[in-house]
Amino acid sequence: MNLEMVYHAQENLSGILNQTPLLESQQLSRLSDNHVYLKSEHLQKSGSFKIRGAYNAVKAAVEKGAKLVVAASSGNHGQAVALAAKLLNIKAIIVIPENAATCKKDAITAYGGEIEYCGLTSSERIPRAIKIAKEKLGEFIPPYDHPLIIAGQATVGLEIIESLPETDAIIVPIGGGGLIAGVLTTIKALHPGIKVIGVEPELANDTYLSLKANERVEVNATKTIADGLRTTTPGDMTFPILQEHLDDLVLVSESEIKTAFKFVLERMKQLIEPSSATTIAALMHHKIDLKNKHVVCLVSGGNIDLDEINALIK
Ligand SMILES: *Cc1c(COP(=O)(O)O)cnc(C)c1O
Repeated sequence: MNLEMVYHAQENLSGILNQTPLLESQQLSRLSDNHVYLKSEHLQKSGSFKIRGAYNAVKAAVEKGAKLVVAASSGNHGQAVALAAKLLNIKAIIVIPENAATCKKDAITAYGGEIEYCGLTSSERIPRAIKIAKEKLGEFIPPYDHPLIIAGQATVGLEIIESLPETDAIIVPIGGGGLIAGVLTTIKALHPGIKVIGVEPELANDTYLSLKANERVEVNATKTIADGLRTTTPGDMTFPILQEHLDDLVLVSESEIKTAFKFVLERMKQLIEPSSATTIAALMHHKIDLKNKHVVCLVSGGNIDLDEINALIK
């Protein structure tokens, strides 16, 4: 992973992405004694930053002659791979659990993806997706542990420092770690003084525990409302990047995530998903020790089942 790969990904993505705004929040600024901005990837194509890595990886597959890509995810990665394949005129098969929510299935089919059902857990889905890719001569696209995925996600870091050169700190949610590994690759190469701070839910603290233990630790499957952060262990490729460069990692509770979600919906009129609300929760609940700084919360996505909103705002 290096900066050259990030610039190459940026070139691949030019003309594809939405230029997502950095929304300034007076209230969050006042609350936290900083200048706070939201990098609004909930307004990105496919509804999350995941199109960045997915498009970069699918494009490389197409250049090698692939006519099919396969992913195992009913969430944002599945939607992003389906959309990337559609934009690049090839076929996508997305392997999802038998009990996936209707809205997620609908989103995948709306982007032109073909759905394949398999089991209930990712340990069943991933081998199935890899097998389908092998049998049909397609390419399996992993969600975070791949250099082209990390390089694609890294482009959001470039955009942040291009539009706000005075950035002092960036707060990033951590699932498998592809997003934050990408941001670290960009920021620590170009502006090592900018702090990059990770956030995990208390209920999905696998990276937190792994950093403490100095090796990848596996936690039990978790039910955090931040469904994009439910990975149970950090990536093989992403974890060393975090070990080398991460400035800090803070944890937020389920009720802190809900409070932040409600705040962003009510005050900022933005519909974001709970995984993204973690970064705002970290600031709102004073988990981060910064004062009078320019702080960017990376709002990673906005895909949420409307039925879930009630439970979040109650
Ligand atoms: C995937 C995802 C994350 C976590 O990204 P990783 O690369 O797995 O760390 C955070 N927020 C949203 C909305 C996501 O879809």
